[in-house]
Amino acid sequence: MKITILIPFYNEEEMIEKTHNVLTKELEKMPDILFELLYVNDGSSDKTLDLMRQIARSDDRVKYLSFSRNFGKEAGMLAGFDYASGEAVIIMDGDLQNPPRLIKEMIAKYQEGYDVVNAKRSRDGERKSTSFFAKLFYKIANRLMDVKLTDGVSDFRLIGRPAINAITSLREYNRFSKGLFSWIGFKETVIEYENELREAGQTKWSFKKSLNYALDGILSFSNQPLRMIFGLGMACIVIAGIYILWLLINYFIDPSQSVSGYFTTIFAIVFFGGVQLVSIGVLGEYIGKIFYEVKGRPHYIIQESNIEKGDQE
Ligand code: UDP
Ligand code: MG
Repeated sequence: MKITILIPFYNEEEMIEKTHNVLTKELEKMPDILFELLYVNDGSSDKTLDLMRQIARSDDRVKYLSFSRNFGKEAGMLAGFDYASGEAVIIMDGDLQNPPRLIKEMIAKYQEGYDVVNAKRSRDGERKSTSFFAKLFYKIANRLMDVKLTDGVSDFRLIGRPAINAITSLREYNRFSKGLFSWIGFKETVIEYENELREAGQTKWSFKKSLNYALDGILSFSNQPLRMIFGLGMACIVIAGIYILWLLINYFIDPSQSVSGYFTTIFAIVFFGGVQLVSIGVLGEYIGKIFYEVKGRPHYIIQESNIEKGDQE
């Protein structure tokens, strides 16, 4: 049995060697399994690539792909799935926040017959605000989206070959892998673990990046926002109708009182102006997504690799 361990690295010069060492030590405990270590350098601007080359030279299980620039973690994972040669892939982070000791348990579950094994972390030690927004996101997302997401399930998971093929067959440009994994189905299970704090280096997620990620996720898996503006438009029409009727009745009751109305006029202009702009913005978001999809650009560009052409199946 051959298992691929896939790790995307972006500016992880402080962690990559340590990660590799901890990981290989863990893999020694499973001598009967053949491992392929597939490292993806996502356009790091520090020494990550140099260290990766070194590691690959000293350990021939290590295959690496290096992107021409930073394409994002989703692209890194997709490239890994494209090039992985194992019958199952375990994807993990390069900062040891996904403890390698779970690998054994994941493989055991896989052998029990699960196609996808998710690792679910607790939110211990996380910033309160991060947990709060994450929980809020899952609440809103599960209301709106076509797929169901589980809080705490990160990208740390084992994926069997049929599920990998399903994932790589989805070539959409806006990749929201939490959604994609839920969308493909398959028999899945969850194992739980305690949250680990990052030992060195910086998280690549700012609040703004997380917010954009959440919005992109919802927009990629839901047309509810379009429905909502339709509903909002309808509500405005109904309210406006009632208001006009009311003015008309007033006019017939006492025509002399019918001028003034400065406040209501300004209010209507400002309010409906806002509603229209927001609505156009929502439309724009979807058109923006279509714009990127129709270009059909590749998800990543590989500049350097130690995988020979034809090596991968
Ligand atoms: N990563 C990546 N490309 C990016 C950002 C992150 O390949 O553009 C990698 C990063 O090196 C790490 C993993 O994705 O291995 C998770 O990133 P990070 O630890 O910053 O995220 P967090 O754990 O804070 O969610
Ligand atoms: Mg991390």
